[in-house]
Amino acid sequence: MDKNLDDIMTQFVDYLLPELTPYQTTMYLLLLRKSLLENGSREIRIGKRTLADFYGKGSRGEKTNYAHISKQLKGLEQNGCISIGDTTQDGTLYIIKFPNEIPIVMKKITSKEEPKIVEDFFTDPEKRRLIFERDKWICYYCGEKVTLDNATLDHLHPQHLGGTHLKENLKTSCLTCNSIKSGMTYEEAAAFILKSIQERRARKNQ
Ligand SMILES: [Zn+2]
Repeated sequence: MDKNLDDIMTQFVDYLLPELTPYQTTMYLLLLRKSLLENGSREIRIGKRTLADFYGKGSRGEKTNYAHISKQLKGLEQNGCISIGDTTQDGTLYIIKFPNEIPIVMKKITSKEEPKIVEDFFTDPEKRRLIFERDKWICYYCGEKVTLDNATLDHLHPQHLGGTHLKENLKTSCLTCNSIKSGMTYEEAAAFILKSIQERRARKNQ
């Protein structure tokens, strides 16, 4: 099956089928069969009688009444599945819409594909500040006070390992702790940070 037809069928079954009545479904597939699959065109001019003959096939010779046929076509037009054009002596013109052109389907596809908004608390200065405030301007690693001049944001889970700019992954950090931790995980960096804290305290107490 070619890719295009594959998509049409998938979208038809997943999104359009649940919206149509069984009669509308039959009619839509019939029109698709007579247009796209038969002529490679989405337009078809066909008389009600011919349509009724095909539509009625398999229903044990039961006569399909035209009012019923018209009702299904109208329903499909209201759903945006087809456009109904002019009528000549050769029949009525129908333009069949692909599932991804039908409003109810389009709505479902977009809501499914809507990209998740990833909040970036790292790049935007205003949002960086929110993290500093959340952490009360205290380095997450050594507990020292930081100011706007030396406050940095550390990626708890390092960026090169897939760490995000989400606020859960950002910690207020002093310059010293951040430069020690740099690309390491907290577990890897813990011993180095601890050593640095001890050295800093020793210096202070000298
Ligand atoms: Zn620190």
